[in-house]
Amino acid sequence: MIPKILTKVQADEMGRLIDEASRIVIVCHVAPDGDAIGSSLALWNLLTELGKDVHVVTPDAYPADLRFLKGCKDILVYSQYADFAKELLGRADLVFCLDFNEPKRVDQMEAVLCASPAKKVLIDHHLAPKPFCDMTVSHPEISSTCELLFRVICSLGLFDRLTLDAAAAIYTGMMTDTGNFTYNSNSPETYLIIAELIKKGLNKDAVYARLHNNNRAEKLQLNSYAISKKMELFPLQGAAIISLSQRELNHYRYQKGDTEGLVNVPLSIENIYFSAFVREETNLIKISLRSKGTFPSNKIAEEYFNGGGHLNAAGGEFFGTLQEACDALKKLLPLIGSLTEQAKKES
Ligand code: 5GP
Ligand code: MN
Repeated sequence: MIPKILTKVQADEMGRLIDEASRIVIVCHVAPDGDAIGSSLALWNLLTELGKDVHVVTPDAYPADLRFLKGCKDILVYSQYADFAKELLGRADLVFCLDFNEPKRVDQMEAVLCASPAKKVLIDHHLAPKPFCDMTVSHPEISSTCELLFRVICSLGLFDRLTLDAAAAIYTGMMTDTGNFTYNSNSPETYLIIAELIKKGLNKDAVYARLHNNNRAEKLQLNSYAISKKMELFPLQGAAIISLSQRELNHYRYQKGDTEGLVNVPLSIENIYFSAFVREETNLIKISLRSKGTFPSNKIAEEYFNGGGHLNAAGGEFFGTLQEACDALKKLLPLIGSLTEQAKKES
């Protein structure tokens, strides 16, 4: 039995918002990942089943390897079709905000989202959501927005309307946000939900294969290069830094998503508790942080890189050169060392 995640009052309120809406838009965070796209498409699928006019709008492009999910080709990418996206958000009567906790996470779409006259519902699992929605369903203790969404759908009494395509989308987010169930994945309910998705016809092994056995050789070569030539280890502080310049990325014909998971690799080394991946983009440096145990990678992201995230997975931005970003991280090594010591003690 999967406990209901919404109170009766919340379920009635969300049910009413959906019933009364005819034009619905679903938005997720910039640089959408499997959880952002999976939850958006699962909800898109369900609301389409319910006869609604519904569109998924993402701030920028989604990773190509998610294209197998039903509805992906209908996603409207704001950075490519800003006028149409503005029109949709302007005339929507309900907007779902999935997998992000503050308006700035939709990047260049922030003003348009905030200006939309639609009622807004947040469904998310990041810490400390900002109060920008009419209804906020925030559960940081749940490892993916997809899992949370499944539980919301059950609370709304709509489990029966969930199709196989929606089940595959939900499973995608559950799997990707837990590193294929290798972290944040020890809740028995997670597996009860997977069992329900399999009963819907989900082939979970096929989803894994679509996502992970579909690589271009250059992607593997880029990751191997990064690990063998660009990984700096700081054993005394339990830290690792990997950095890649635009020139290096271009050399391996980098595509969005190619370095997904790279930041986790150094954590597989004994006594490495903190890993940073620093990537040069056109006008900023993107920083991805991961940690083990109680090491708070989100604190580093918040305090030094204008970002945020979860305890063990966070990120932020740096304005300057790639070298300056790496130097900024290295300056933090004494702090990182003491956080590592603390996490070791608590493990
Ligand atoms: P990733 O390293 O996969 O890009 O991001 C991991 C997590 O860190 C995301 O799920 C998100 O919670 C958080 N995150 C990444 N980048 C940013 C950022 O620029 N700002 C904020 N607030 N959070 C971020
Ligand atoms: Mn997520």
